[in-house]
Amino acid sequence: MTVERQISVLTPILDANERLAAQNRRALDLAGILGLNLMGSPGAGKTSVLENTFDRLPGDVGVAVIEGDIASQLDADRVAVHGVQAAQINTEGGCHLDASMVQEAITELDLSPIDLLLVENVGNLVCPAGFALGTHHSVLVASVPEGDDKPYKYPGMFQSVEVILLNKIDLLPYVRFDMDRFTNGITRVNPAAEIIPLSCETGEGIEGWISWLVERLSKV
Ligand code: MG
Ligand code: ZN
Repeated sequence: MTVERQISVLTPILDANERLAAQNRRALDLAGILGLNLMGSPGAGKTSVLENTFDRLPGDVGVAVIEGDIASQLDADRVAVHGVQAAQINTEGGCHLDASMVQEAITELDLSPIDLLLVENVGNLVCPAGFALGTHHSVLVASVPEGDDKPYKYPGMFQSVEVILLNKIDLLPYVRFDMDRFTNGITRVNPAAEIIPLSCETGEGIEGWISWLVERLSKV
């Protein structure tokens, strides 16, 4: 067994993932595509954020979506209605996406008209944070009914992202949720994170998210 072979056998899974993620990043950079990894618990509204994003982005921005789910094609069908290219990854029970899955999904897409690739990760506040996909930015979709304690209970996830969309703010009058407790919890683990409160139901606050996105797109 050669030294090289030994090293590759011993290399931890996460290192292998980092290498594939770097390949994905190069592929996106070569194609002039901005990639985003959207994470969040099941039901936080990741797909709803995507739907609201398609409808509000400037018309000349080409968008594609990779949908990660344990099973089903439901989210890919939802986004395809909006006329965007969508590739579905079924993880067959796996609780996060990894770089190899994204690499395979990218081959299903026609990258030439694409400026923005949105990857919706499997609904989960734990391990998706540990697996780089090769995207440029990580975004967390949190939501009011999940509670203001989530930054304290899932610090790894809140630490791993640059922007946190707090969805379902239309429910604030009906749900016990202390905004200061939520934002203080984020500041403790990730003081640089941007927090954008919004509602996919009423549209309130979505413009702030679109501005964040358009600013990043302008730098690609
Ligand atoms: Mg979804
Ligand atoms: Zn997992």
